Amino acid sequence: MRLVVAGAAGRMGRALIRAIAETEGAELSGAFERAGSDAIGKDAGELAGVGPLGVAVTDDPLPLVAAAEGVIDFTVPDATVALSELAAQARIVHVIGTTGMSETNLQRLDAAARHAVVIRSGNMSLGVNLLAGLARQAARALGPEWDVEIVEMHHRMKVDAPSGTALLLGEAVAKGREVALAEQSVRVRDGHTGARVEGTIGFATLRGGTVVGDHMVILAGPGERVELGHRAEDRMIFARGAVKAALWGKGAKPGHYGMADVLGLDR
Ligand code: NAP
Repeated sequence: MRLVVAGAAGRMGRALIRAIAETEGAELSGAFERAGSDAIGKDAGELAGVGPLGVAVTDDPLPLVAAAEGVIDFTVPDATVALSELAAQARIVHVIGTTGMSETNLQRLDAAARHAVVIRSGNMSLGVNLLAGLARQAARALGPEWDVEIVEMHHRMKVDAPSGTALLLGEAVAKGREVALAEQSVRVRDGHTGARVEGTIGFATLRGGTVVGDHMVILAGPGERVELGHRAEDRMIFARGAVKAALWGKGAKPGHYGMADVLGLDR
């Protein structure tokens, strides 16, 4: 499968180039970066530390997308939305790991998914998608009398909060309770907040160092507590998941899919 990597010089972009190089059936056909990036003109393989691949990083996605079967994109929301329109025109697979999407951004991705196979997840790892299933099950079994708090920690360079994974876990809890996350979530607490409101789903964000991604779902009941957690040790788990998603998407009908579809897990 001919794949293009968006944001090729980013932390995830480099991991994706490595993951494509090690995956049978996948081939890097193009790589691009933001106009003005120092990476333009460099060999994508050398940038990612896997030796020359004969693919130079460019700043124009259009010809790359037109000649590819899929594009993998871990960049920023505006770039992802623009790219989804190109992927829809070319009717190819668009794997999206970018987090921090607004409601308007998501509507535009839904529009693109009428023609492209859009596979989007705030976390592409098997472990986290399994954790989401466990969190949903725990929330359903324990009910709203158990307070749910979702705690995450990421490296100091991360620009959005809470993490896409924390929100994915919040969605899983909300689904288990059959409520809408948007109506129940408490994303910030500061000052005199008053007592905790029953049924709310709280988020806490920690930032520092080089942490790849830690997530904990805490269910706190009267006199006892259940803690479900996941620690990502290496970005390659997300990159391998994204390449797997692209290969899965090759045979799929246009639509907006998630990692649970790719991994065959219960939604
Ligand atoms: P990063 O190192 O900042 O990489 C993002 C790259 O995208 C940068 O090289 C950036 O270039 C580039 N970029 C920005 N605008 C662009 C454009 N218009 N066209 C092409 N490239 C553009 O960040 P990261 O740590 O790799 O994370 C990227 C995203 O993936 C974040 O949203 C993060 O939360 C998410 N993520 C998701 C998962 C998952 O499993 N879903 C896992 C890890 C990370 P400049 O630096 O030059 O602006």
